Amino acid sequence: MAQAPHVVMLTSSGAGHVLPVSELAKRLAVRHGFTVTIVTYASLSTPGHSSPLASLPPGVSVAALPEVSISDLAADAHLVTRILTVINRALPQLRDLLRSLLGLPAGITAFMTDMLCPAALAVSKEMGLPGYVFYTSSLMSLLSLLYTPELSRTTTCECRDLPEPVMLPGCVPLHGADLVEPVQNRSDPVYELMVDLGLNYLLAEGFIVNTMDALEHETLVAFKELSDKGVYPPAYAVGPFTRRRCPDSDEVKHSCLRWLDNQPDGSVLYVSFGSGGTLSTAQTAELAAGLEASGQRFLWVVHHPNDKDSSAAYLGTAATDADPLRYLPDGFVERMNGTGLLVPLWAPQVEILNHVAVGGFMSHGGWNSTLESVAAGVPMVAWPLYAEQRMNAVMLSSDRVGLALWERPPLGKDGAIVPREEVAALVRELMEGEKGGMARKKADHLRDEAEIASAAGGSQDRALAVVAGMVSLH
Ligand code: UDP
Repeated sequence: MAQAPHVVMLTSSGAGHVLPVSELAKRLAVRHGFTVTIVTYASLSTPGHSSPLASLPPGVSVAALPEVSISDLAADAHLVTRILTVINRALPQLRDLLRSLLGLPAGITAFMTDMLCPAALAVSKEMGLPGYVFYTSSLMSLLSLLYTPELSRTTTCECRDLPEPVMLPGCVPLHGADLVEPVQNRSDPVYELMVDLGLNYLLAEGFIVNTMDALEHETLVAFKELSDKGVYPPAYAVGPFTRRRCPDSDEVKHSCLRWLDNQPDGSVLYVSFGSGGTLSTAQTAELAAGLEASGQRFLWVVHHPNDKDSSAAYLGTAATDADPLRYLPDGFVERMNGTGLLVPLWAPQVEILNHVAVGGFMSHGGWNSTLESVAAGVPMVAWPLYAEQRMNAVMLSSDRVGLALWERPPLGKDGAIVPREEVAALVRELMEGEKGGMARKKADHLRDEAEIASAAGGSQDRALAVVAGMVSLH
């Protein structure tokens, strides 16, 4: 019998990467009979964020690259500098691992890397392996990263000072300040790393993108035109990859879901800034006061505040010694008893978003959170904090998509504190206002579209079949 195709998939650390990579691996194994080796980094990994790796089906295994040191980096080095430095320094270990896998009977049919590790494509290419990028965010943000080398070459000012809007093909116009956060400061070492990232993407044979037509129709059309002309490798829209809701038994049900069971339908605002989003101490207190002033029910996943880094929780670098609820205003937890539920650090997001009591999502706009909100039909308030989240907010709040409330200047611009009155007004608007009502209609429509895309034989299955067919041919 012929050997099943064997795909090696490299994932960077962080829930937002490990989760969709695990989903792709599962589908290739279960639906297409592939074997998959998921390769992770021992450095910078946070055990809680890697939990999806504990429940993989037969045919999917995991190998970790050994720890590499980045202790020489400045203590305040950008999160992306730290991640990309680990990826670059672990390339020799990746080469060794690929060599040893190539020596086994299964060999390697193709190599796939998640969006932060395209540098690894040079290694797979060296070994004659076809390489793909699994892009775990919007196609629009991929276009923006592909554009970074040109931006760097053709301009000298900071992005926020660009005189004209940035017109990426098939995308809503962007202000320079809406481009991904690590390209916002040319003098930070992360800027050059982002330029390299954009160049390395061109080593791919194709982009497997966690998006869907209903969210990015015009962008997909424009991208196809460019790839047909040979400007970029082709893109395959395999989204939305969201985890399935687990029907927990009552005994293992998270207490926050039991609390939701007792709230009226559509009445609760879910507040969470993803695995990494971190507010300052003052902003945490102000958000608390704003939620209280809104008079709405809410469920808030509270992280430790950090006054320097809006992504501090991403790699677990925030203080973990104390209960994060300790940083909330005096008496807040007691006063909110009944109206608001505070969950420290982590909550079962997919189950929460799909609970009938949840009527809105205040989110940092991470792409997985966005797709989970779409799949659950929940409208959003976008509160972008880092990475490509501001670009996501622009797209989600545009007339094209209309899922999220977001206004310029963005919440918390330049570190300014969003006052409680503004928080309260936004929350009321989302939950009870006219704009919130419109976003809810769009959310219902997008949920239907997501269901159609991910139903058997839908666009997701078809795109994945194309990818699987292409990989099998190698
Ligand atoms: N997540 C979760 N519980 C939490 C926080 C996050 O289950 O308390 C999951 C969330 O459902 C999503 C992922 O972690 O699948 C976060 O990915 P996203 O791209 O939204 O943001 P990131 O954390 O990468 O900034």
